[in-house]
Amino acid sequence: MTSINPFQMAQQQFDEVAEQLELSDNIRKILRWPLREFHFQIPVQLDDGTMQVFRGYRVQHNDARGPCKGGIRFHPAETVDTVRALATWMTWKCAVADIPLGGGKGGVIVDPAGLSVAEKQRLCRGWIDQMWRNIGPRMDVPAPDVGTTPQMMGWMMDEYTKLVGHFTPGVITGKPLGGGGSKGRTEATGFGVVVTIREALKHLGIDSKGCTASIQGFGNVAQYASKFFIEMLGGRVVAVSCWDRFDKTSYTFAKADGLDPSFLQTITDQYGTIDKEKAKQAGISIEDGDAWLKKDVEVLIPAAIEGVVTKDTVGQISSKVKIVAEGANGPCTPGADEFFREKNIYVIPDFLCNAGGVICSYFEGVQNDMNFYWELDEVMRNLDKKVTNAFASVQEMAGARGVYNRNAAYMVAIDRVVRAMELRGWI
Ligand code: NAD
Repeated sequence: MTSINPFQMAQQQFDEVAEQLELSDNIRKILRWPLREFHFQIPVQLDDGTMQVFRGYRVQHNDARGPCKGGIRFHPAETVDTVRALATWMTWKCAVADIPLGGGKGGVIVDPAGLSVAEKQRLCRGWIDQMWRNIGPRMDVPAPDVGTTPQMMGWMMDEYTKLVGHFTPGVITGKPLGGGGSKGRTEATGFGVVVTIREALKHLGIDSKGCTASIQGFGNVAQYASKFFIEMLGGRVVAVSCWDRFDKTSYTFAKADGLDPSFLQTITDQYGTIDKEKAKQAGISIEDGDAWLKKDVEVLIPAAIEGVVTKDTVGQISSKVKIVAEGANGPCTPGADEFFREKNIYVIPDFLCNAGGVICSYFEGVQNDMNFYWELDEVMRNLDKKVTNAFASVQEMAGARGVYNRNAAYMVAIDRVVRAMELRGWI
């Protein structure tokens, strides 16, 4: 996915904070690496009768605070190091959000766009066939991520239920509504991103009305982040970008007086590729893939993939930018962090910024356990409260220790995980 090894990046971020927190060698040993990893092959029969074997992964980074939690990615450039990094960040994300879950992540090296619906279903069931003994509501609970959908989670839950012999909706979250899913899950991550931006703007004393944003990506996170940025904050989204799966390159879609995300959604396919022709007809200008980063806006929201804002690209950011809200996991490298610190740009670190999704997934698991489902307003109210509290705990830590936001978020999270490991007698 990127030339920067995301796992090395996750370890580098951890090491810096471990040093500041003066963690013991044993604690560092446990937390620098995942507790468990599963690497496996998934044979899938294609529609033409031939077989194809896909490479699958599940990484369980830490479960001291509760069952592992984290999505499954279907991506052609998936690597075990990407999965390791994402599993590690899930541990910190669940801890910073203060939900009783640990960190895990899964993946398959595959381009889902190249498979038929039936082939995708067989691949999803095949992933469960390999992993079902090592996942479960009290062990490890997967969810959707890049390249996977609620429908796929439904198939996976069904396969698991068949294998264990009893209905187990809580084995996986992000399921479709009516199939054990929670109201609000689809919009939860983008909503949480905007809640953290709202709190950051308040903290910086900036009026949210009329604030502008430029976003990388137009998938699940970016679509709802743009919608709520406009609806909740009264802001304007002047650019979004996407990967064009036909041209195999990225583009930026820009409109100075503001894009309409609801319209853009109607011309975006399920893989997050926006139709260029229809966009042009609607007066939207099509620019190169990096243009989103150079916009004169108050808020930048990288919400696509990891490792895109680096020491080589960060200099292109406008001096007007006050906040970088990491909607994606790991979009900014340590080299970019140096620049942000120097320029005093307020960074909302990924595992705080995009925690809304996993918080709602946790609510989904709670509802599955109770077999009682909440109304949307209850989900969103609880979500807002959790994200706001998480933001406040990071802000408080940053103030108390005089540290950079990312390190403050790490300190809050690591402190909670270490406490759980101590309570359980691991260290
Ligand atoms: P998605 O598959 O729905 O959308 C991804 C979007 O990014 C698409 O619009 C795609 O075209 C675009 N994209 C991909 N490569 C790009 C590139 N090089 N340049 C520009 N655009 C590019 O994925 P998503 O669910 O929105 O996830 C986005 C990020 O947010 C990922 O890092 C994911 O791990 C993270 N995340 C997602 C959730 C969630 O609930 N969906 C929760 C937490 C974190």
